[in-house]
Amino acid sequence: MYDIGIIGAGPAGYSAAIRAAQKGLKVVLFEKEYVGGTCLNKGCIPTKTVLHSCKILSELKNAEKFGIKAENISFDFEKIWQRQKKISEKIRNSLTNLIKSYGIEIINEEAKVEHSGLIKTDTNNYQVKNILIAIGSEPNKIKFNGEYDENFILTSDDMLNLTKLPESILITGSGAIGIEWARILSCLGVKVTIVEMMDKILPIADDEVSERVVRLLKKSRITFYTSATVEEIKGKTIKLSNGQALEADCVLSAAGRKTLKEFGDIKIESGFKTNKDNIYAIGDITRESMLAHSAIKQAENVIEYIINGNEPKFDKNLVPSVIYGSPEIAWIGKTEQELQGMQYKKSLFPISALGKAFAEDKIDGFIKILATDDEILGAHIISEEASALIQQIAIAMANKLSPKNLQKVIYAHPTYSEGISESILALDNMALNIPPKIV
Ligand SMILES: Cc1cc2nc3c(=O)[nH]c(=O)nc-3n(C[C@H](O)[C@H](O)[C@H](O)COP(=O)(O)OP(=O)(O)OC[C@H]3O[C@@H](n4cnc5c(N)ncnc54)[C@H](O)[C@@H]3O)c2cc1C
Repeated sequence: MYDIGIIGAGPAGYSAAIRAAQKGLKVVLFEKEYVGGTCLNKGCIPTKTVLHSCKILSELKNAEKFGIKAENISFDFEKIWQRQKKISEKIRNSLTNLIKSYGIEIINEEAKVEHSGLIKTDTNNYQVKNILIAIGSEPNKIKFNGEYDENFILTSDDMLNLTKLPESILITGSGAIGIEWARILSCLGVKVTIVEMMDKILPIADDEVSERVVRLLKKSRITFYTSATVEEIKGKTIKLSNGQALEADCVLSAAGRKTLKEFGDIKIESGFKTNKDNIYAIGDITRESMLAHSAIKQAENVIEYIINGNEPKFDKNLVPSVIYGSPEIAWIGKTEQELQGMQYKKSLFPISALGKAFAEDKIDGFIKILATDDEILGAHIISEEASALIQQIAIAMANKLSPKNLQKVIYAHPTYSEGISESILALDNMALNIPPKIV
């Protein structure tokens, strides 16, 4: 008899398994495909691996500016794509060993829940006291009107299995996945067009972030259409709802991810609860926040609940979002449009006011803070290292530190972190590196 059976070994499942084992529970973990789930094998890690090659490529193309001679720069598509596979495989092997080092049994089979105390695979039955459903999500391959070859529509999974680069691509959706792939492909010379059905690029972001991302896309020669959808595809001709017709070698369907609403007769309810006692759900399947770090936090919370009956709050407002590429785009908490009608202070500190940004020629971006005297309500950053910078605000918000509390911190110089200090000071027009009254 196992204390807990966990179905799915993505970030949600394997983190829950490790935490449960750390707490002395006997754990069995089922995975039908690859340990590490979407994140390690088809998402976070392989895309960041490819993005890193892109970063090196564009740095080299710009090298002369920095007094470096780099001639005849080119790239090897196959090597870049092989590398992302190898990196995932390496991490997968270490992760598997890590999980096993906690005495967790890994079963490489598809699992089904028979009832609250029994998990079944094709070859065996497993009696368990608790069940965690952590089966994640799948790409959403849209079916468009028209006549076209099935292979013309690609998902983010297919992108990682490309055997050659297309010359052109149309990407539907300008969320994190769409923007990241647009950045990768345009850096590698692919002609990219984004079609977004909402009226702005990166619809979930703060308006000022979206506006700046538009500028960045233009700079990368990425074409985009907002308030538009794909109406019909005939062969390689794509007709948009705004009357535009364009040709592309393929379409990347990057609008949203699919999740099961029910797993057998188990229905996912609010938080990590389901309609059955002792059966819980975490990670993407809950649709709370489709990010790996949210999945990991939910995993910690659910194990705490199973062991101690405490139900730690999963606060979506404290989940940082990051879009990778250069510069990175990151935010946490409320957007300005969400704060409409409320009293708040705002700062908008240009990254170009930082010495480090000049030294590295990475001056395009800003740090925007929304706050009251007592708390930080939101932060929106476009900058090199934004993924690390946003974490400073995440720590402050999770611990309810006020802007004044952050002013006590001494920030090393020269760093991008100084931008956090400056943007906090700018809330009261006290930033030292910008003229007065920027708001
Ligand atoms: C292209 C892309 C880029 C991304 N980049 C980022 C990023 O940079 N940062 C970030 O935070 N998030 C990113 N994400 C999202 C992130 O990958 C997911 O939020 C995260 O993987 C969710 O974890 P999970 O454990 O809930 O599900 P998953 O990682 O999807 O894992 C679920 C696992 O369950 C297994 N499974 C399903 N059904 C069964 C069954 N019946 N029996 C056994 N096993 C089963 C699946 O095979 C899978 O391995 C990205 C996603 C994509 C697609």
